[in-house]
Amino acid sequence: MEGLNKAVDLLLHSGHTVAFTGAGISVESGIPPFRGEGGLWNKYDPEVLDINFFYAHPLESWQAIREIFYDFFNQARPNAAHTVLAKMESAGMLSSVITQNIDNLHQLAGSKTVYEYHGNSSRLVCPECGNQTPVPEVDLSELPPRCRADGAVLKPDFVFFGEGIPEFAARKSDEEARAAEVMLIIGSTGEVMPAAFIPRIAKENGAMIIEINPRESLFTRTISDIHLQGRAGEVMEKLAKKIGIA
Ligand code: NAD
Repeated sequence: MEGLNKAVDLLLHSGHTVAFTGAGISVESGIPPFRGEGGLWNKYDPEVLDINFFYAHPLESWQAIREIFYDFFNQARPNAAHTVLAKMESAGMLSSVITQNIDNLHQLAGSKTVYEYHGNSSRLVCPECGNQTPVPEVDLSELPPRCRADGAVLKPDFVFFGEGIPEFAARKSDEEARAAEVMLIIGSTGEVMPAAFIPRIAKENGAMIIEINPRESLFTRTISDIHLQGRAGEVMEKLAKKIGIA
């Protein structure tokens, strides 16, 4: 594979490697991305994840949310790409994962330092009192789910369109991007803002960018130094063998 040996060399000599992941890393776990082939936006109107629409039409929004995120996300298991990142971290070869994903698969694979730029779907939050409840403790057969304390409609603890980025994740992601000597971008179109600034910040601060994606993204011809063209799981397994952590 073109670029593989150069990527291996960069990873072996990097003092600070950071992974930036998008929906593409979870495709081999059976979770469709939003955009492109088989993307969720071919089936649903993105409006259902707009924060103003959610508050105005909680039932309609929740019906789609349950179908998109809770009917199958919870059955998904990490794939080889998530597992290799977790192994790289325990081998001291990866400082952190910055993920746009909300599926919890990095943590399930064993990654410890994960900055969730868009939150996490595995808990619901009450917009009134701030109480958080793990999804398995909530009855989703009756929609919309409500807070036991004050009756307000519960919201998944991920970032809706029109909402800000969680402060801690935003700050740590920025710090990690500035510190990175190598950034691995896995499965992201680069279209979602402000997340797509993260690899650009890394590049501006001197990081080498290795991208893994079967297709070209907005990063490929602008900031990527190496494009390993292929599926995340397959490419990460090849990398793992070569860097000695398979
Ligand atoms: P995206 O949906 O915009 O694009 C997915 C990217 O993954 C594309 O570039 C595609 O070519 C690539 N891809 C497809 N299959 C792949 C594979 N097997 N290996 C590697 N790459 C593959 O994704 P995005 O840029 O991350 O932005 C969408 C937003 O939607 C994210 O912010 C995220 O919050 C959210 N989202 C999350 C999940 C999840 O948690 N798994 C799923 C769908 C959407």
